[in-house]
Amino acid sequence: MTSVEQELNRLLGDARAELRAASDITAAEQVRVRYLGKKGLITEQLKRVGQEPPDVRPEIGARVNDAKCALTEELETWRHQWEAAALRTQLEAETLDVTLPGRGLALGSLHPVTLARQRIESILGGMGFARAEGPEIEDDVRNFEALNMPANHPARAMQDTFYFDAHTLLRTHTSNVQVRYMEAHRPPFRIIASGRVFRADSPDLTHTPMFHQVEGLMVDENVSFSDLKGVLTEFLRAFFEQSVDVRFRPSFFPFTEPSAEVDVRCVGCSGNGCRICKQTGWLEVLGCGMVHPSVFHRVGIDEERYTGFAFGAGIERLVMLRSGVTDARLFYENDLRFLAQFR
Ligand SMILES: [Zn+2]
Repeated sequence: MTSVEQELNRLLGDARAELRAASDITAAEQVRVRYLGKKGLITEQLKRVGQEPPDVRPEIGARVNDAKCALTEELETWRHQWEAAALRTQLEAETLDVTLPGRGLALGSLHPVTLARQRIESILGGMGFARAEGPEIEDDVRNFEALNMPANHPARAMQDTFYFDAHTLLRTHTSNVQVRYMEAHRPPFRIIASGRVFRADSPDLTHTPMFHQVEGLMVDENVSFSDLKGVLTEFLRAFFEQSVDVRFRPSFFPFTEPSAEVDVRCVGCSGNGCRICKQTGWLEVLGCGMVHPSVFHRVGIDEERYTGFAFGAGIERLVMLRSGVTDARLFYENDLRFLAQFR
C-alpha cells in the first residue's frame, strides 16, 4: 500500500468519525468542506499524484477519486437520514390523531312546546284540519264579546287579562283566531289555531303568564257532538300514543253549548291513582263543546243551517302529561338539562 493510500484511508476514517459526531446539517457541511472542498484534505491528495512515479499515478488518481466518491456518497446518505429524522420529529411534534373522538358539535333542538305543537298540527292535519293564524294583540271584541262574553260577564273574571287600554289586550286564548276566521270564511271548514296566549297569573307549578294553546273548529251542516267525540278521542290516542280511555264531563264555556271537559285515564297510573292525577285516576286535558248559536250569529254564519264544534287545550299541559313534567315553569327557564331531553 502506498503512502498516499494510507493517508487516504486515515482521512476517510477521520471524516467518517466527524460525520458520525455531526449533530446537524451545518456540522455535516463543515465536514464536507474540510475534506472535499477546494482545499479539502482529500482534494489536496490529488496534488501529491505528481510526486509519485509515473507508472503508479493513474492508480493513485483513481484511489483519490474513489475516496472522494465514497465520502460524497456517505455525506448524501447522512443528509437523507438526518432530513428523514428531522421530518419524523416534526411530524410527531405536530401530530394529529385522527382516531381521537371528536369534540362533538352541540346541535340545538326544538323546544318541547314547538315539538308538541308540530305533532298536534300533524295529527289534526291528517284529519283535515288546516292551520289558521291570528294576532296575539287583540281587541276586546274578538277576544271576549264575539265569544259571548260581553263586558262585565262573569266568565271574564276566569281569565286575568293583560290590557293595553280599555279595548286592546293580549289574547287570553286562541279563540280569537276562530272569530277572525269565521268573519272571513263561509262553512264548511275545519281549522286549528295554535300559539301563545297570556294571562296575568303568578307563575307556579301549573301556571305561567304566557303559555300555548291549540284549538280546533269544525263547522258544516249536520256536525254533531258525536263528530266532536270521534275527533278528540282519535286525537288523544294519537297524541299519547296509547289507547287511552276518554271521558266527557258536562261543563260550561260561554261560547259553546253544550260544553264539556275531556279527561283521559291517567297515563301515569292507568287509573289506579297517583300524584299526577291527584289520586283521581283521570287527567283533564281539553275543553270543548258545540259552537254557541249566538257566536255564529255575530259573525254572520246561519246558525239554523250550520252547526260546529270547537275544542281547546293547553300545549304545555299536554306535554306535561305525556312526558311526566311536573312544573310548567321548567318550559321557560331555558335550562338545557331540561330542554335537551326533548328531541
Ligand atoms: Zn294517576
